[in-house]
Amino acid sequence: APRTVLITGCSSGIGLALAVRLARDKQRRFRVIATVRNVSRSGALVAAAGPALGRTLETKQLDVCDEGSIRACLDSIPGRHVDVLVSNAGVGMIGPLECQSLAAMQGLMDTNFFGLIRLVKEVLPDMKRRRSGHIVVISSVMGLQGIVFNDVYAASKFAVEGFCESLVVQAIPRAPSPGSISLVEPGPVTTEFEAKVYEEAERADYSQTDPETAEIFTKLYLRNSRDVFASLGQSPEDIAEHTLRVIEAARPPFRHQTNAAYTPMAALKHADPSGALMTDAFYKLVFKYDAVLRLGLRAIRLLRWKAQKVQAGARLLGFK
Ligand code: NAD
Repeated sequence: APRTVLITGCSSGIGLALAVRLARDKQRRFRVIATVRNVSRSGALVAAAGPALGRTLETKQLDVCDEGSIRACLDSIPGRHVDVLVSNAGVGMIGPLECQSLAAMQGLMDTNFFGLIRLVKEVLPDMKRRRSGHIVVISSVMGLQGIVFNDVYAASKFAVEGFCESLVVQAIPRAPSPGSISLVEPGPVTTEFEAKVYEEAERADYSQTDPETAEIFTKLYLRNSRDVFASLGQSPEDIAEHTLRVIEAARPPFRHQTNAAYTPMAALKHADPSGALMTDAFYKLVFKYDAVLRLGLRAIRLLRWKAQKVQAGARLLGFK
């Protein structure tokens, strides 16, 4: 029987691409419940689904900030049976901290972090009872490393990572593999997400911060960020392919990065526990772009050396 996959935030971007990719699976392995917060905004999803609509894909309303809407959506599914939950809905925020209101920050945490918690609280008990189920969370490389001017967004994804890293261990005795929870960690992806945060950045009032910070953000950061999206950005369809691989894996990974260019950056933190290597690299990434490559190579050498130490330590503790 096809696996039922419920995805949140399907009116655009990664959620839309994934819903359509799974619904159009040649082997018809999935029955997709593509959920949107606002049903009147499901036009692009419906158009992209084409003949899959009503066959392998159905749309439902679900707002991750509203427990009632999550419960109503699940209750409308026969036996509340969800094999795979993809927590994808999310919002972004960039800019100097002084220019962002606490209410906006709380709203972002409510969607990106508490949205996931609301979903998990609703589906996990059923999955535990059935002793099967897979929760796939669209996190970000910013769940592994902070990026300047993305302070609160990165914090929300760190929260997501910490939550899942803690929860996954509980699932091990019940499921055949630790893959009952997976984090997909994309780098930049060209979706409405990027457009929305740039639009907001253009409208923002920078009189709330000092002129030097405003200048670094509006002149340096925004330009660099656009270059990074243009040169390293993946498409939502790329992320859908990566997510499909995570969903169909016999032993799904707990973490999966979609963009190899970001792996050395994320590794810097583990190469040097003092944090100096990482902060230095990010400083240079913003202010002295060409020095980053040399730092990346240094990190890889350090990591190799550390891996040997860790293996020796593990042997000493009797793990291997
Ligand atoms: P997007 O803006 O196209 O999609 C986000 C979706 O979430 C939208 O359809 C939006 O309507 C929905 N959403 C927002 N609040 C919601 C709520 N309360 N309830 C239900 N749905 C809600 O952007 P995207 O890039 O496709 O983002 C999807 C996920 O990918 C997000 O979690 C984001 O953090 C993550 N991500 C994006 C990037 C990127 O560069 N675009 C990189 C890494 C991770």
